[in-house]
Amino acid sequence: MEFQTQEITLQVSQTARDFAQQHIKPFVMEWDEKQEFPTQVFKEMGKLGLMGVLVPEEYGGSGLGYLEYMAVIEEISKVCGSIGLSLAAHNSLCTGHILQSGSEEQKYRYLPKLASAEWIGAWGLTEPNTGSDAGNMRTTAVKDGDHWILNGTKNWITHGISGDVAVVIARTGDPRESSNSTAFIVERGTKGFSGGKKENKLGMRASETAEMIFDNCRISDEQRIGEVGDGFKQALKVLDGGRISIAALSIGIARGAYEAALQYSKERHQFDQPISSFQGISFKLADMATEIEAAELLTAQAADLKNRKLPMTKQAAMAKYYASEVAVKVSTDAVQIFGGYGYTKDFPVEKFYRDSKLCTIGEGTSEIQKMVIARHILK
Ligand SMILES: Cc1cc2nc3c(=O)[nH]c(=O)nc-3n(C[C@H](O)[C@H](O)[C@H](O)COP(=O)(O)OP(=O)(O)OC[C@H]3O[C@@H](n4cnc5c(N)ncnc54)[C@H](O)[C@@H]3O)c2cc1C
Repeated sequence: MEFQTQEITLQVSQTARDFAQQHIKPFVMEWDEKQEFPTQVFKEMGKLGLMGVLVPEEYGGSGLGYLEYMAVIEEISKVCGSIGLSLAAHNSLCTGHILQSGSEEQKYRYLPKLASAEWIGAWGLTEPNTGSDAGNMRTTAVKDGDHWILNGTKNWITHGISGDVAVVIARTGDPRESSNSTAFIVERGTKGFSGGKKENKLGMRASETAEMIFDNCRISDEQRIGEVGDGFKQALKVLDGGRISIAALSIGIARGAYEAALQYSKERHQFDQPISSFQGISFKLADMATEIEAAELLTAQAADLKNRKLPMTKQAAMAKYYASEVAVKVSTDAVQIFGGYGYTKDFPVEKFYRDSKLCTIGEGTSEIQKMVIARHILK
């Protein structure tokens, strides 16, 4: 594994950092309070190549690797977790699924639009009754000649309303059969496909989370991704890569909270000295710094394996599990270091604290990551 950061990673990191400072930071609280999903920001990120980081250049993307992708998500999330989450969902899930399992025709049709942000992508696996147990989905796709008819509701979908195109996993076999689902690409505007209720969330409020409803939605067999029955298998592989991005999102949030707390601890005086001079505070900061670096190394390990196309399910689960728990702990400690001021919206740490919790839930809860890790170490 390469521990020396490459020039290209530093450049990409700088581009994302500059963009976040200029185009995201001034509006973070406004978007959060209004729960506004700022589509224009994604169009701007598309111009910089941040919406198709992993997409090869021949399909209109930036053609970069997972370490650069990690850097982008981290830098954006250091400023706003919501934008980091939407960026991760667009790149890893919808775009990632088509890149991983789509036909050449599907790649040429959709990836240039997604990589440029002309279209925003959504990815629908979760349903109201099947979250962790996603393989037990109820949404069905029934073959009708050379078409499929989709019925059911997906929920908690990032860009469920605003997405221009969605990858949807639907059941095409019997419940509990191992190969019972298939993935499809559905374009916004297709009859029978609509967005539903938008969630009013604790955090990640500028990232749109909503239902996607399929009511006798008829799509051509050309919209099927890969083989019939392979949908859930494809989704699990997509989630391996996605977990790197949620780990990076977690590290970004943790870094944002830590840096704010570090600075504040040197400026805030109590008992005639900066609060950083108290061991109770400096030890908290030491723990935060150590845990962030450990999360970074675990995530870089998974990213490096993914770049080299080596097995990395266990490492991605470890990175996602550890980094997300670190994000919650670090942002909680950051609020503590800010004292009462940390509890207000005048300082950034309360938002990091609210946003961080999603990281232990989305793309598989911490409990599910532990199940994945245990399965690997006990086999
Ligand atoms: C903001 C946000 C964005 C999201 N974006 C998307 C998206 O774009 N696309 C998409 O498909 N989904 C998305 N999701 C859904 C997300 O992946 C699910 O919420 C997550 O997988 C958990 O499912 P659940 O909410 O149904 O919880 P449940 O599965 O009901 O879990 C409830 C609790 O039970 C625990 N639990 C469940 N099973 C076990 C077990 N076997 N052993 C031990 N504990 C267990 C869980 O860990 C959790 O603590 C999003 C969710 C959120 C909140």
